[in-house]
Amino acid sequence: MSIKEILNNGDFTKEALVQLLAAEDQDMTAIFERSAAIKLKYLGNKVYFRGLIELCNICEKDCFYCGIRKSNPHFERYNLNDDEVMQAAQFAFDENYGSIVLQSGELQSEGFTARIERLLKKIKEMSGGKLGITLSLGEQSEETYRRWFEAGAHRYLLRIESSNKELYYKLHPKDSKHDYQARLDCLHSLRKVGFQVGTGVMIGLPFQTLEHLAEDLLFMKTFDIDMCGMGPYVEHQHTPLYEFHEGLPTQRQRFTLALKMIALLRLMMPKVNIAAATALQAIDPIGREKALRIGANIIMPNVTPGLYRDDYNLYENKPCTDEEASDCKNCLEARISISGNEIAYGEWGDSLQFKARGGQ
Ligand code: SAH
Repeated sequence: MSIKEILNNGDFTKEALVQLLAAEDQDMTAIFERSAAIKLKYLGNKVYFRGLIELCNICEKDCFYCGIRKSNPHFERYNLNDDEVMQAAQFAFDENYGSIVLQSGELQSEGFTARIERLLKKIKEMSGGKLGITLSLGEQSEETYRRWFEAGAHRYLLRIESSNKELYYKLHPKDSKHDYQARLDCLHSLRKVGFQVGTGVMIGLPFQTLEHLAEDLLFMKTFDIDMCGMGPYVEHQHTPLYEFHEGLPTQRQRFTLALKMIALLRLMMPKVNIAAATALQAIDPIGREKALRIGANIIMPNVTPGLYRDDYNLYENKPCTDEEASDCKNCLEARISISGNEIAYGEWGDSLQFKARGGQ
């Protein structure tokens, strides 16, 4: 079947997805045109802001790809204090961002759970309930998720990283802290508790094939996710996976593949929220805007105090680590309008997929 035929009949089987992921030149342009049109039809040209607060880079996990993994001694660890978190949240609120994301290295302890609970309540109080809160704090118990939900968070992002179990274990140590099934169970717990649930994968990883990526898209469809954050894998020299970077597709190829993944997810799930991942911009200075053009509708401007940004290096060449939050806002405004989109200030921009399922 030709690319046009697949796009017209909308039957996204694994084989069809592999063919679409391999598309180049005019075929690729046809995919992007279609996904941009679908986005416009279902979601309009609005882009929602989630001010990103990188709370803490201390992590108990040892993921083979991630720069802030436990075993990397080559950088400073930090933990924002509560005042610093509140200042960042206040900044996002004052700038009318609508929502924030609290993200962190992974910590599982009563102290951490209680701290987040306290912060959530304070942020809700400070904003009179107006600031929406997404969490990206890794794997936790269902009880912890419930406490955070009840304290005011209503969306949660936990990437499956790869939905293929075999590949998952090439990216993570094989131990109880990095259990594939546990990660999957967390996604189900989050749904059960009532969160809008987001997941995603890295694209262009060592050992990853187009078949894996097609499976990832089908995984997201089958789980019926509400939101997605996915972006290119960007190697980090102080991680074990760096050893395999020579055989990888170029960063540009990984970037293009990530755009294709975003476009295809938009075609398969027109109503989900899709974030233009920050990693896109590590490769292309206007990478996120390109993603917004072809299907993404969420952007996460970094509002972490500038002082700490250099030390939240999940991957190398992370953008805007040397800027203060307001600089980011100014440059984003100009660039988003160039991408044909409009910032929906002060709106939560919840997932329409979640609403369609009866969630509120
Ligand atoms: N600890 C939390 C969130 C922090 S990491 C959690 O586990 O959910 C946020 C995301 O950054 C990860 O889910 C991963 O997909 C991405 N990431 C980490 N290292 C990366 C790399 N080298 N290249 C691209 N993305 C990376």
